[in-house]
Amino acid sequence: MISYRIDVADIHAHLFRITLTVPRPAAEQRLSLPVWIPGSYLVREFARHLSSLTAHQSGRELTLQQLDKATWLARCGGRGALVLSYLVYAFDTSVRTAYLDAGRGFFNGTSVFLRVHGREDETHALTIGTLPADWEVATAMPAGTPRRSLRAADYDALVDHPVELGRFWRGRFSASGVLHEFVVAGALPGFDGERLLADAKRICETEIAFWHGPGARSSELPFRRYVFMLNAVEDGYGGLEHRASTALIAARRDLPGVGAAERSDGYVKLLGLISHEYFHSWNVKRLRPAEFASLDYTQENYTELLWFFEGFTSYYDDLVLLRAGLIDAARYLRLVARTASGVLATPGRKVQSLAQASFDAWVKYYRGDENTPNATISYYTKGALVALALDLSLRGGPGGKASLDLVMRRLWQASGGGPIGQGDVVAAVKAAAGARRGAALAAELLAWVHGTDDLPLPALLKRAGVKWQRQPATLAERWGLRVSESALTGVKVTAVLRGGAAERAGLAAGDELLAVQGWRLRRLEDAAAQLPKASAAQLLVSRDQRVLTLALAEPVSRDRDAAQGTVQLAVDESAGAAARALRKAWLNS
Ligand SMILES: [Zn+2]
Repeated sequence: MISYRIDVADIHAHLFRITLTVPRPAAEQRLSLPVWIPGSYLVREFARHLSSLTAHQSGRELTLQQLDKATWLARCGGRGALVLSYLVYAFDTSVRTAYLDAGRGFFNGTSVFLRVHGREDETHALTIGTLPADWEVATAMPAGTPRRSLRAADYDALVDHPVELGRFWRGRFSASGVLHEFVVAGALPGFDGERLLADAKRICETEIAFWHGPGARSSELPFRRYVFMLNAVEDGYGGLEHRASTALIAARRDLPGVGAAERSDGYVKLLGLISHEYFHSWNVKRLRPAEFASLDYTQENYTELLWFFEGFTSYYDDLVLLRAGLIDAARYLRLVARTASGVLATPGRKVQSLAQASFDAWVKYYRGDENTPNATISYYTKGALVALALDLSLRGGPGGKASLDLVMRRLWQASGGGPIGQGDVVAAVKAAAGARRGAALAAELLAWVHGTDDLPLPALLKRAGVKWQRQPATLAERWGLRVSESALTGVKVTAVLRGGAAERAGLAAGDELLAVQGWRLRRLEDAAAQLPKASAAQLLVSRDQRVLTLALAEPVSRDRDAAQGTVQLAVDESAGAAARALRKAWLNS
């Protein structure tokens, strides 16, 4: 059996030591470390943290030949086991790589386990070596015997089961008869673990019922056990989905506190993250792009479908909170409005379609810079709005029987929870909408996904008894600017939006805004008082030590939507009976 042992080599140097034993190696045995981790579409070159690689066979040291940045060749003689040993530097708190210090350890297999070429389909064994006293292990990887010896059916499974190490908080609950474990590292003493478990359980039960119907049996679920691993830090937010677990990172202050009467906005954001990653257990880990049917760990794996796998998951993450009774309709509509505002404030939505943005994720979305808002659109947020538009269109059909829920379940059943293409999504929409409306709705969906026009959400929401309004624009919105403000840095421009007044005036990312109309500026919105509806303003700006005077004139935005204020959604109490019925079916409100 291919077997790995991972040890703490030097805790203060943040070094893991990995010992890999390959029985019956090939005469020319190749080994490589992945360049990316599935679920996070960026080439991260994990091999840059690998060092001190040595190889032995039958007690004899072999010379390894490095073939490229992440691949090595061992020339073996005879049948004796090949034993490799190497160090991996691990000091990244994110969910994507590995971490080790005196307080905590964590790793994804893609960061630490060399792949043995040609042997990927064999069972892989993992032994967790000696750990600091009273450290525990949490992972969804099935245990072998003895304890701390784990088993994965193949290499894909080995690297799809992250492992958390340390002294963490630990709780559990059962959902549809399946054990769910929750571990939290770094929580403050006032953390309300029981509240977190109760809320997570409601999310899991709602999503299990979504995919498998009410009363689902444990044998229908795609996993036998599930583990949430949450790392609480001073500042951070994110998650990565795996087949039977998820690694999450969140701000400590966003965890529920004992005695807190209401769910804070930060906690609702964390619940949305939990909901999102758990939903991925079905949508992207099993139901997945046809291109991901077999993963290539050596390079980018392209797909045009992230709008579906990330966008539709983003639509359901907050909707599940509503359905689980964790937030009310008004709060849910505020979350939808924030998503809609973000998309409309992004000029890149006119530059790339969702399909293009998905394909380009590797060099655009995951390589964000000051020009990202002008260059592309998030397939998470606009993808979620496409899901909303599709759901409302389906629900607005004759009889009110169709919904996006039906489309998702049909896809799950038709594919057997496996790889799908765009054609499968289209076919499921047609089947759910019925023969008469199906073709037109499918064509509309393809235009939303492959075009750059804004979605018809104001009209669709009106038909669902929800009012779409715009807030008065802030100065930053009127000018087409994004800024960061603090007493230390002053007012710093972080992005200049395409086609806006700021761009025409010659402002650039990195500029510090010193004064407007001759008045020292501390906060950008303070200047709004001097410019109630000004059409021109004189700006004093600092760039690369020089002070510049720029003249700004508004309005000049070619993209009028981007220069407007944020979207507000509210239940329309005066809506007619049909709209009220649609709204009730959608929001149960
Ligand atoms: Zn996701």
